[in-house]
Amino acid sequence: MNKNEKYQIRLLALVLAGLLAASVVFLIGTYRSALDQQQRSVLDQMQLVGAFVADNVDLESFRTVADAWSTGKGVSSPAAQKARKRLVGQISKAGRAVEGRSVRLMTRRTLSTYDERQFVDLCMNPSDSASRVQVPKTLWDGYASTKATQIRATDADPTISVFVPVTDASNRVIGHVRIAQDFRAQIRAERIDLLRSAALYLVGLVALLVFVFRHFVSIIALHVTERKQTLEQKIHIAEHDALTGLYNRSYVMDQIGQELKASRNGNGAFAVMMLDLDNFERVNELHGPRVGDDLLKLVGRRIHNILSKGDIVGRASGDEFIILLRGVQNAQFATTVAERVLKVVGSHFLVQEQELEVTVSIGICFYPEDGSDVGTLMRSAAAALSQAKLLGKNGYQLYNGQVSRRAVDLVRLEKQLAQARKNDELRLYYQPKFDLKKKLTGMEALIRWETKEGLVPPVRFIPVAENSGLIVEIGKWVIEEAARQLAEWNKMGWTKLRMAINVSPIQFNDDSLVPTLKKALDDNGVKPSDFEVEITESAMMQNMERTVQDIRRISELGIKIAIDDFGTGYSSLAKLAEIPIDTLKIDKSFVDNVITNEASTITTNSIIGLAKSLKKCVVAEGVENEDQLEYLAANGCDIIQGFIFGKPLPADDFYDAYMKKR
Ligand code: C2E
Ligand code: MG
Ligand code: MG
Repeated sequence: MNKNEKYQIRLLALVLAGLLAASVVFLIGTYRSALDQQQRSVLDQMQLVGAFVADNVDLESFRTVADAWSTGKGVSSPAAQKARKRLVGQISKAGRAVEGRSVRLMTRRTLSTYDERQFVDLCMNPSDSASRVQVPKTLWDGYASTKATQIRATDADPTISVFVPVTDASNRVIGHVRIAQDFRAQIRAERIDLLRSAALYLVGLVALLVFVFRHFVSIIALHVTERKQTLEQKIHIAEHDALTGLYNRSYVMDQIGQELKASRNGNGAFAVMMLDLDNFERVNELHGPRVGDDLLKLVGRRIHNILSKGDIVGRASGDEFIILLRGVQNAQFATTVAERVLKVVGSHFLVQEQELEVTVSIGICFYPEDGSDVGTLMRSAAAALSQAKLLGKNGYQLYNGQVSRRAVDLVRLEKQLAQARKNDELRLYYQPKFDLKKKLTGMEALIRWETKEGLVPPVRFIPVAENSGLIVEIGKWVIEEAARQLAEWNKMGWTKLRMAINVSPIQFNDDSLVPTLKKALDDNGVKPSDFEVEITESAMMQNMERTVQDIRRISELGIKIAIDDFGTGYSSLAKLAEIPIDTLKIDKSFVDNVITNEASTITTNSIIGLAKSLKKCVVAEGVENEDQLEYLAANGCDIIQGFIFGKPLPADDFYDAYMKKR
């Protein structure tokens, strides 16, 4: 509430209070004038009665009585008594005649409290100024009232007397008739009346005033809330990204600035993370911008959900997000968060009934190591982000020492990888595939790199190999080694096995792929139909025409073709029917959730249905438990691959495990 509104409310309260006070004054005034009017009309009647009595009084008797009183002699004499009796009779009769009011001649008893002599003086000599005579106020008032002066009966003095002069034939006043009225009951009645109507009136009035006041206050309150809401809305718009509802770039930068200030005062360190989705453009291209928008919202929500309370995420632009991590004590804390981001963003999204998959690259920098102002920190994070992109995406990179170290790492990794062949550090492991009768149908060759420091997983070094082009050479080795191994097993009498190898999209763009395959099979005497090439669905989409061309040529050699990680790459159904593909491998992510998640169940069922109608073999990979196995078998999956039957093993172990067991 602002000053003006407070002032208005105060003013209204004041006006209403004034109104209430005025009403009270008005009520009291009304009471008094009503009382006055009543009393005055009674007085008028009293005078009328008095005048009537005075006109009809027997003057002789009156004088006798008055004489007896004034002298004090013969008051109880039979003459005086008689005269008095007659007078009283007359007066009472007259009084009754006039509206039945009680009219009394002044007697000793009625005057017992007053100075009788003075009163008699007054009665007998009314022409003298009345003020000369000390009479009680009531008498005076009453007397005065006959001269139309205002009088009023009060609580303290509830009686009003009227003195009507009695005159003789020569118009001389010879005495007075007093008519007295006690107004006590009237005053009380009037007061009760007033209280009743005042109470009614005031209750009504107060209710009205309270209503008006509250109404006014609520209007102001509404006004204030509205203003607050608009202000909040404006602030929200200024601070938020309209699409995702996350903070916008400038707000996050502002917060980074604030955090800088706080940290300079000894509040420790924090991290800035810049994120960029890796394959977002494809989503837009394939599904349209509305699906893309929805995906961004979901990505934003997932990131937001994994952050701690004090940390914030904003959308910087397009598919770029920024995170401010507060109170970061060490790099590991930030990388843990980055890993969680990779995980949640990397999981499937269901957008407008479509399963989508994206990955994200993250650049991380720290205050104070990587910059001491907002601009520098943003640049550092951006540099780290591009490094992450260069290093094969779907990962995070730290800036500065760490980035350069990672870059050195990369160069070293690349160098080491180039030597890996010569140093004989590459191995192929084999994972078995079984049909529904639990008969071994073949294996997938999966590459392993055994360095002195330990085993490097393919997801770590394949991207490096792809980036550096080394994949062509490594891929050639895989083909040769797998063919050699299969031939060796065949020679040992282990036949009717299909060997599957993985081929990177880079290899598809290289002219040597088809000749290498042909030569490897020829050299080792392997039946082409015992050999299978797995290409991921997304890889196939990358360079569709070229890849399809290669697939045709490979297929013409008699080699089988499998589409790996199927269901994640949005291949066009029309194309799928045209390409000579033998097998669809349902992506592990669907298999993982085939029992638990309806979308995965639906996708799995549709892939199986699709494979059946295209007359292709369908393989489920990554099957880990009985429930999944049972479901897939029951729903028409042909071949099962996964830890439930066996992990990838070195050739000898594989032989021991599966050949010997037969
Ligand atoms: P992929 O071709 O889809 O291979 C399946 C991956 O899933 C393998 O991981 C395998 O070990 C794993 N896997 C199989 N069954 C299960 C299971 O039941 N549970 C779990 N958790 N995992 C299971 P790996 O060997 O780490 O390979 C990862 C990826 O690296 C492969 O995915 C493939 O894309 C790539 N890769 C492997 N070897 C080569 C290669 O020689 N050349 C190329 N270009 N890529 C390769
Ligand atoms: Mg594979
Ligand atoms: Mg796969």
